[in-house]
Amino acid sequence: MFLLIAAAALSLALAVPPLASWSWLPGPPAARAAAPPRVAIVFEHAGASLADLAPIYAMHQPFGLGIFPHKRYSVQIVRDAMAHGLVPILHLPMEARNPADTAPVAGAVWVRMTDAQITRIVEDDLASTPGVVGVSNHAGSRATADPRIMTAVLRTVKARGLWFEENRTTPASVASDVAARLGVRRVLITTYLDDPPVDIERKVRALIPLAQRQGSVLAAAHITTGTPRVVLRLLPEFRRAGIVFVPITEFLAP
Ligand SMILES: [Zn+2]
Repeated sequence: MFLLIAAAALSLALAVPPLASWSWLPGPPAARAAAPPRVAIVFEHAGASLADLAPIYAMHQPFGLGIFPHKRYSVQIVRDAMAHGLVPILHLPMEARNPADTAPVAGAVWVRMTDAQITRIVEDDLASTPGVVGVSNHAGSRATADPRIMTAVLRTVKARGLWFEENRTTPASVASDVAARLGVRRVLITTYLDDPPVDIERKVRALIPLAQRQGSVLAAAHITTGTPRVVLRLLPEFRRAGIVFVPITEFLAP
């Protein structure tokens, strides 16, 4: 009987992949003595296509995934993202100074809206991306500089128990300040790997010495610029350098 139980336990243990096969975990105990340099990447603009996500899913790393509301695959991508260990985030379109930067996306926050309209649009956007754990701004150089707009947006974010990732698009942004005042957990991203979409490989590779020097680095990129494939190709270099990919949630300010 004992042997039977032991055999069953062994077969069960074998069915579960050993922890060491998860490449984002630090390697052998010796390598864990010093904290490894950490990199968090958020890939944004998901929603309209499934094909763009294949290289991201193939990496098995806890990247963030910014998903547009009301897109053909928004609901499915949130579900798939969670199944692949990604962090699903509503990528909330917000008014930019240059209208072309915001359009053409549905569910955008415009500064002419009343507070009640903003609450409703953010709620609608969240309803079209059920399961997201945070909200990030898409564009927003006009809206993120407006304390009233950011207060209305972030009150809704807080009411839903979510956090906010600021993509800073203007030095006049008050987004993170308002989030701090309202007690919304938040994280600021200022490093972009493909904006503009040139020299992407160099910028991705530059994360390695930057993370080694600073201990950690946060960066954002877009799924439509080819950046996910570049990261996939350079993954062995990150691994050799002892870099650990971590979820953006490790960097949330309380
Ligand atoms: Zn965006």
